[in-house]
Amino acid sequence: MKRLPFDIEGKTDVGCVRERNEDCLGIDSSLGLLVVADGMGGHSSGEVASRLAVDTILEYSKKMLGGDKLIVPEGGDSSLPVRLRQLEYIVQVANTIIFEKARAFPKNHGMGTTVVAVLVDPKSLAVAHVGDSRLYLQRGGQLQQLTEDHSLVMDQVRQGVITKEQAEKSNLQNILTRALGTEEKIQVDIGEHPVLPGDSYLLCSDGLTKMVPEPEISRVLEESASATAAVEKLVAMACEAGGQDNVTALVARAPSGRQGGFKGFLSRLFPRSA
Ligand code: CA
Repeated sequence: MKRLPFDIEGKTDVGCVRERNEDCLGIDSSLGLLVVADGMGGHSSGEVASRLAVDTILEYSKKMLGGDKLIVPEGGDSSLPVRLRQLEYIVQVANTIIFEKARAFPKNHGMGTTVVAVLVDPKSLAVAHVGDSRLYLQRGGQLQQLTEDHSLVMDQVRQGVITKEQAEKSNLQNILTRALGTEEKIQVDIGEHPVLPGDSYLLCSDGLTKMVPEPEISRVLEESASATAAVEKLVAMACEAGGQDNVTALVARAPSGRQGGFKGFLSRLFPRSA
């Protein structure tokens, strides 16, 4: 199978306080598929929900995207690019499977999970998400959040009731307005973004963003020599800051399109002056 020319690595860690890791991540390099899920629910339900989300998305993506035939889901918005409709459909399937399992097994009642799922190729990136796990883009030294949290505090920020700084200190941060598996039907946010040489994409759970300020995340993405170095550093920083929650970071770096030779060497030494 072909592999994408991206440098991809993910890491998840239980953190310093929790007993279980309810975060889960999945990568299918041949499809350019990246997934992070952050589960919730009593007993071990949070782990069950996030694992089900990741496994279902990997499995259905392989079925719909990995074969020779183009499989387009029925219904949905036909004006959208096929890949976005496929991703939206696949996340909705994961919702149904988690919801049905929660209904069938009393110990799993009420379980749910966030999810952020990305399909990336050298030209563009498609994203689908539910909840407060995020997708970031690091480009030209700047960090940009490409997803909007489905949380109570971020709703209040959007309505102008509180500021983003107040939201980051609120003790209501954990209340989600949408989660996968808690309702029979789910509204999935989808988006498409152009990919440029040198872009770094970060998928992460709130255990990273609540512990490590965005300027620090940006600096790590900018300075790390590889995706592996970036995720190791980000997870370590979340743990050093207290590791209050499970922490997950998944990084995909587009090829830089760097110049070779002496000029390229100089532009790498002095990236901003070149
Ligand atoms: Ca979390």
